Amino acid sequence: MPTQQQMISELLHDLDIIRPILLNDKKESANMRSLLRRMLNSLEDLQHIPCIDPKLYKHVLAMLTLLFDAEHGALLKGLAHHDKPEDLLESFQSHSQTRKTLIDTAQQDLPSALNMLRRGYDLLGKPYPETDDLGANFQQFEKCLRNYLQGSRKVNVAFSLLTSAFKESMSAMDNALDEVGENSPELKETQQVLDRELPPDPEQAQALLRQARTSILKAGKQLNHAGQRVKQTMNAQMEKMEKLNKRLQHAEAQARNDPLTGLGNRRKLREFFAELTEDVTTFLMIDIDHFKHINDQYGHDSGDMVLERLGKMLKVAVRSTDMAARLGGEEFCIVLPNTTLTQGKQLAEKIRIDIADETFETQHGHIDVKVSIGVAERVAKEAIAGWLKRADEALYQAKQGGRNQVVISK
Ligand code: GH3
Ligand code: MG
Ligand code: MG
Repeated sequence: MPTQQQMISELLHDLDIIRPILLNDKKESANMRSLLRRMLNSLEDLQHIPCIDPKLYKHVLAMLTLLFDAEHGALLKGLAHHDKPEDLLESFQSHSQTRKTLIDTAQQDLPSALNMLRRGYDLLGKPYPETDDLGANFQQFEKCLRNYLQGSRKVNVAFSLLTSAFKESMSAMDNALDEVGENSPELKETQQVLDRELPPDPEQAQALLRQARTSILKAGKQLNHAGQRVKQTMNAQMEKMEKLNKRLQHAEAQARNDPLTGLGNRRKLREFFAELTEDVTTFLMIDIDHFKHINDQYGHDSGDMVLERLGKMLKVAVRSTDMAARLGGEEFCIVLPNTTLTQGKQLAEKIRIDIADETFETQHGHIDVKVSIGVAERVAKEAIAGWLKRADEALYQAKQGGRNQVVISK
């Protein structure tokens, strides 16, 4: 059985062999690993060597082994992956020297060993247990040290996991930045939409903006962790888009309304029909009587004024769930959901009378305005066109019947 001193010398000799190998030839890593293994085995053996105070020294050496193991392990691990292992050699050497001194001291001098123990506790941030049982004291220190090293190993593992996760997310972020940067297809597409003049058709324009918004949201999702710069670009584009959206909403409102009367137009009417779900709905077709005559007698401007005033009257006459629209010229209509033919006829009569009673004052004098109204209730699953045609036929009958009257389609 070799003595402690012999083993330590052997160990340090091994370390001396490792040094030049690490320095001179990086490719000798296999040899380095086998030497390291030998070195660690030697350290383990040290624990079983009998000495003056076997219990005490066993723990001192166990502790040193742990330290040696951990620190050298870390150093050598670093060396294996280091581009320039020479850079780490100096700390490696000084570390070995310190360990050698410590082991020598521990062997020769018990007070030094105790001092070292006290320092060890200090280093671990643990209170030094004032006890006469040195064996137990060392044992406890060893336990503390093991916990400490184990803890730090865990921390190291966690840290390296964290680091690689961080690296991964960094490169993912880099990729995201590349993909969703100023050159990203999503943002480029959005930019193109935003820079282009909006198509005059509000539906097309809306579709484009919707597409742009989808692209931005898609890009936004990819950009969860991406940089501020891209976010700013996106925010600016979002802002731009909000403005365009407002303009579009305004344009849309205009495109769906008759500018003269403010009533809905044919487009709005079509949309209203498309969303119609009520079973019982009645339609009123309204046409001004002898409007051509009004134009001829009072002038086109006065005719316009009549149309405008009449539009307002219709708007007031209907509920918010109804729909009053100008179909064109002096032709108006009202859609009345949840309204029977009888109820529709009543409203039509009221409107007819109200208009006939209304004074349409113009700069060219007082105008008498009369309307004829055709009323039709939609029968089950009736096609919109057929239903409106019936209302139109009823209107025709009203005209034929002498105008200023309401006729229902049965
Ligand atoms: P009826 O009683 O049979 O309906 O006779 P009408 O004269 O009302 O019908 P007609 O279809 O013969 O004439 C409608 C007129 O409405 C002709 C057109 O000049 C006029 N008109 C159409 N749109 C406008 C408009 O926006 N403003 C004005 N002032 N007149 C319009
Ligand atoms: Mg007319
Ligand atoms: Mg007409």
